[in-house]
Amino acid sequence: AAKGNGRGRFSFYSSDLHTAAEDRRALEDDLRDALVRGEMALRYQPVVHSKSNMVRGVEALIRWAHPERGTISPAVFIPIAEEAGLIWDIGEWVLRTACKDAASWPGDMRVAVNVSPIQFANEALPKIVAKALAATGLAPDRLELEITESVFLGDTAETALMFKALKALGVRLALDDFGTGYSSLAYLQSAPFDKIKIDQSFVRDATIPGSRNGAIIAAIVALAEALEMETTAEGIESLDQLDLIRQLNVSHVQGYVYSKPVPLEDLIEHAEAGSWTIKPAGPARQRND
Ligand code: C2E
Ligand code: MG
Ligand code: MG
Ligand code: MG
Repeated sequence: AAKGNGRGRFSFYSSDLHTAAEDRRALEDDLRDALVRGEMALRYQPVVHSKSNMVRGVEALIRWAHPERGTISPAVFIPIAEEAGLIWDIGEWVLRTACKDAASWPGDMRVAVNVSPIQFANEALPKIVAKALAATGLAPDRLELEITESVFLGDTAETALMFKALKALGVRLALDDFGTGYSSLAYLQSAPFDKIKIDQSFVRDATIPGSRNGAIIAAIVALAEALEMETTAEGIESLDQLDLIRQLNVSHVQGYVYSKPVPLEDLIEHAEAGSWTIKPAGPARQRND
């Protein structure tokens, strides 16, 4: 009976895998042409000073408008781009576009750009960043590169050199999704981050009675303050979560409670006004983008 089940299971899984693999190959093929076809776009999500409601900057988040499948999440296609060697072109396009857009806003609003560990592991990255800054005229301290903890899995000496080279350009560095990966306090000691982004998973349950996440967030904030780093809480959706995050002295907030990621056009009039505040809203504001 075990044999029979095994066979049945095998054919089921194998046809399943076949479909998934084919599907992925098809997506990969489409991804090769997506940039030249103009299917990629950036959305910008406001990063808000938690106590004053002032917008301090935005994070650029890529979207792929697939001609048949509709919008595809970066969580789906960025890993494919990384494996297929397409992250270079996409990453360079994101940097260029984000720097160009940010340079067109008056004032000193910052733009944060996500950098894949694959990009970070290439010694050409500082040159690519410098080129984007020079081509667009954006002041380096208005660009923030978001890096995840996985960059620390690579060669330690090379990682340290990369941090040095990027800091030498005058750009800011943020540690994204803090607490979800391979968190080690040693990273914070050795790397020159300007900001720690507290992952959404800590925020999600923090307002539930008995949750330990508030204590964890408080500890991260204490650590960041001692190291003179800013903090951003990611994924704040409700006014209750926002209240807690303010009580815990997290300096900045990103989340649907303020705004989903929006197209440049929706941002530009505010940005032109210089300083800009937004009112937080309850769950009614929650939308998909
Ligand atoms: P991330 O950098 O941690 O970005 C935050 C994610 O949380 C974004 O998802 C954002 O839309 C979402 N988010 C913001 N506020 C809320 C909220 O209140 N509730 C919930 N549930 N989610 C919220 P998105 O845009 O789908 O991006 C997912 C991930 O894909 C990003 O995580 C980042 O790791 C990666 N990514 C996005 N754009 C790029 C890019 O241009 N280059 C690279 N290499 N990676 C990117
Ligand atoms: Mg990010
Ligand atoms: Mg994040
Ligand atoms: Mg993430």
